Amino acid sequence: MDTNKTLLTIAMMLVTLYWTTARGQSESYAPTVEKLRTFYAETNKTYFNNELPQNVRISIFDSKTVMGHTDTDADGTVHIFIDRQSHPIEKEAEMTEAHEMCHLRSESPFDESEEFQACMVDLAKRGAFKGIW
Ligand SMILES: [Zn+2]
Repeated sequence: MDTNKTLLTIAMMLVTLYWTTARGQSESYAPTVEKLRTFYAETNKTYFNNELPQNVRISIFDSKTVMGHTDTDADGTVHIFIDRQSHPIEKEAEMTEAHEMCHLRSESPFDESEEFQACMVDLAKRGAFKGIW
């Protein structure tokens, strides 16, 4: 067999494999901190009148117990955590992020109070979850 032809075939296979993999990543539906930052900023603007903190930290983390939670870092910055395992798809992560934003709004970080519920219903009525449910 022609060695050059074999090498060319292998090279073509590698190029195909590279592009298939690269394209697969760019079309991923998995959440990223970047996408979650964009969702936060847009939701804050459209549905919260930019009244939630503008400068927040967002992390995708590995939790065994919660889908998400919100904390305040030592420097006073609000920090939203989104669980990786329970959100393989960005849209699902956005729903949890909106949930955390209603916790921020209602100032009851750990309990789904009446005020919290009203915030979620209000978001839904105003179309914030279009494309999510
Ligand atoms: Zn909650």
